[in-house]
Amino acid sequence: MKKTNLLTLLIVIGLIGGVLFGQFVLFKTDPALRIGDEHWTKMTGDLILIRPLTLMVIPLVLVSVVVGVTRIGDPSKLGLLGGSTVLYYLVTMLIAVTIGAILVTNVEPGKGLGPDAAHQLKATGEAQYAANEQLQQAAERDSLGAAWMNILYQMVPQNIVSEASETRPLGVIVFALLLGLAIAAGGESTAAAARIFDALFEAIMRLVHWVIWLTPPGVFLLAAWTVGKIGLAELVSPLGKYMVTVLVGLAIHAFVVLPVVMTIFARRNPFKFMWQMRRALMTAFGTDSSSATLPVTIDAAENEGQCSKRASNFVLPLGATVNMDGTALYEAVAVVFLFQLYGIDLSFTELLIVIITATLAAVGAAGIPSAGLVTMVIVISAVNKSLGGTAELPMAAIGVIIGVDRILDMCRTTVNVWGDSVGAKIMTGLAPDEETPAAVPT
Ligand code: ASP
Repeated sequence: MKKTNLLTLLIVIGLIGGVLFGQFVLFKTDPALRIGDEHWTKMTGDLILIRPLTLMVIPLVLVSVVVGVTRIGDPSKLGLLGGSTVLYYLVTMLIAVTIGAILVTNVEPGKGLGPDAAHQLKATGEAQYAANEQLQQAAERDSLGAAWMNILYQMVPQNIVSEASETRPLGVIVFALLLGLAIAAGGESTAAAARIFDALFEAIMRLVHWVIWLTPPGVFLLAAWTVGKIGLAELVSPLGKYMVTVLVGLAIHAFVVLPVVMTIFARRNPFKFMWQMRRALMTAFGTDSSSATLPVTIDAAENEGQCSKRASNFVLPLGATVNMDGTALYEAVAVVFLFQLYGIDLSFTELLIVIITATLAAVGAAGIPSAGLVTMVIVISAVNKSLGGTAELPMAAIGVIIGVDRILDMCRTTVNVWGDSVGAKIMTGLAPDEETPAAVPT
């Protein structure tokens, strides 16, 4: 059996085994097996998979973007690639968020729950919120203006080391982009630097190949923890309709919208490409983190998905940081659902505000677990402002969906990584590597 097939098989076994173990063993014995505040499955999953993968993210982002940019060389070509990439990110995120908004306003998962169920949901939710400091701090701090400033500050970093140490990849990407341009412009005098970065990239990818073998046990533990904490029965609880709305939206985006976009702009078979990207997609599903998945995404895109280094070395790190189709869609559904639950009807203008701010909130969300849940406060406060005191959704409402967030996070992170991968494939057409074979439709 080929190594990649063996690895795929092991990851599938890990995921399915994790879900079953979580549902049938952990879900029942959960409280007994805690270590401090954490659960042993989560801690071990973090130790053997999330931390080793995350360790590689910042060096990989730096080296990968420098290599991509130096290979492109010409600033005008880079401008074309950069512009097209950003346009792709924005358009696909806007489509995703619109799908979410249309679905949630038609399905109305927050209405018709019955007074008892609604009351119960709100009471437990508000208690969950009161226990969550991270959310409360975000609610006090994050407004629309602050979100813009945060993105702008990251785009103009003043200290690469502090950006790196805070795992804020955007600043590192900007620095790498400039460094890559300078290396390309330097010609002979900087050729040695280009070779060093090339070699470093190969070395880091070798590390990635080693760490990838930790994926099967890692996803087993993390999936077991998620399912063990929530329990699959939640899918038929009062939150079930809301969860299914998010899942259907994600499925439409992943299996219809992105494949159509890819067929039109890359002229390749999207489902074959989805299969080639399977390791990255499953890792995203298991880890809930597009950032931690980035090493696997780059590896799968370049080695199996036949994406060019020129495109994917640049498109994938940027995508893992700002392009979050799944998160954008999820935020729209979640926010409108909460307004419905609290009996506040949103007009068309407010829905537009949801669409725009959910896109921005998704751009600002880091590629880590539950980031989308936290940046949702931006969307809620923008809609509350627009309602101008007529009615207001309490921030504590977010607590209602905390409990089931992790399962939805697995799915939206997979869609986030799929969106990045499709972007890399499309941009390969604009920036093929010299050695990439000429386009042959598959
Ligand atoms: N976990 C997501 C990601 O890493 C972000 C989020 O929606 O919470 O892509």
